[in-house]
Amino acid sequence: MQVDAIVIGGGATGCGIAWDLSLRGVRVALVDRGGLGAGTTGRYHGLLHSGARYAVTDPETARECARESVTVKRMAAGAVTDTAGLFVLAPGDDPGYVDSWTRACTAAGVSVRDIPRADALAREPGLNPEIVRAFEVPDAVCNAFTLCALLARGAEAHGASILTHHGVDRFIKAGKGVIGVCLKDGRTGAALELRSRVTIIAAGPWSAQVARLAGAVMSMSLARGAMLAFAGRHVRHVVNRLQPPGDGDIVLPRGGVSIAGTTIIPTDDPDDAQVTDVETRRIREQVSLLVPGLATLPIKHSWAGVRPLYDGEVKGPRGQDPHLWSRDFTIVDHSVSGIDGLITVMGGKLTTFRLMAERASDAACRGLGIAAPCRTEVTPLE
Ligand SMILES: Cc1cc2nc3c(=O)[nH]c(=O)nc-3n(C[C@H](O)[C@H](O)[C@H](O)COP(=O)(O)OP(=O)(O)OC[C@H]3O[C@@H](n4cnc5c(N)ncnc54)[C@H](O)[C@@H]3O)c2cc1C
Repeated sequence: MQVDAIVIGGGATGCGIAWDLSLRGVRVALVDRGGLGAGTTGRYHGLLHSGARYAVTDPETARECARESVTVKRMAAGAVTDTAGLFVLAPGDDPGYVDSWTRACTAAGVSVRDIPRADALAREPGLNPEIVRAFEVPDAVCNAFTLCALLARGAEAHGASILTHHGVDRFIKAGKGVIGVCLKDGRTGAALELRSRVTIIAAGPWSAQVARLAGAVMSMSLARGAMLAFAGRHVRHVVNRLQPPGDGDIVLPRGGVSIAGTTIIPTDDPDDAQVTDVETRRIREQVSLLVPGLATLPIKHSWAGVRPLYDGEVKGPRGQDPHLWSRDFTIVDHSVSGIDGLITVMGGKLTTFRLMAERASDAACRGLGIAAPCRTEVTPLE
């Protein structure tokens, strides 16, 4: 099969690119070795960030989240539950953080409303009655599987091919340039060749591994995070702790469960899916400061995912504490290192997937000589 563009990875980023390119009239094929959302996307916490969490420590990401969360709520309404979010100062937390946080939120374009303690407790009866202060922010919950399905369906309706359970085994090259991929069907073992003018790697934490198959050297900084699901909806909002990002400081409602997380453990292995007893204890202990009922409830499920962060930002001055590693993203056009026809997108958050897809699609269109502008900001997904 010959297409204009191949997208490797069926997470939020890859599905977003397939949707974006197909709206621009590009013939695109998306491939994933598993199902849609099989990677980090299907293992994430579930939060469509307002940007408030990153306002102090990662202001550029906060600004992007503030803008993108508004767009995603509008264009992917079927995947989003607009719960709103509360930031809560727990007993013993540093009250001195509040002013710098509210100032940083305002600077990032995140609307913050100081609400009386009594109102917060009435709206969120499971909250710790000893909370000191509470603020409302426009956080929301996003179902990542629904999001990927909407994006893929929209792309297919505009002519895209979606090939799940097809992993990239190797790249087809002409000289040093990439002109396609060899795929293996994970269910039947059958081989398939796809040819394209440009190939985009959106393989999340596996991106460096996949790029290596094309001879491209990239380094990433991967970080695992664990999540716990408690049976029942014990919160109505996304409840965040009003402190610098740490372990077990968010709990949110998703379907019939309450999901608490997370941790951040540097790892070299994109398949690292372990949840240790230490992490489980740590999340439960920390999140119980916000919602005390979670201290003794049985855990229904636990799982982990690996954050696909990239090295450029991580090695910066804030590089030591992984909680402060930047969630910014980057687009690498490998023609700068002599490999034509190959682009990689790395880093970011699920919340910023649309912007990442726009930038990656812009780069692909430059290579294809296509001038059509991005339309995902104004085209609702149905
Ligand atoms: C613990 C945790 C909690 C998080 N919580 C949040 C949150 O609440 N809000 C938020 O905005 N962000 C959150 N994130 C970040 C967010 O989940 C990721 O940034 C986002 O999901 C990455 O999506 P992606 O499409 O780039 O990568 P992925 O979802 O990992 O997609 C990559 C895809 O590539 C495929 N692939 C790999 N190798 C191959 C190959 N050889 N051939 C074909 N396909 C291949 C994989 O199967 C996978 O489906 C969290 C991350 C973690 C780890």
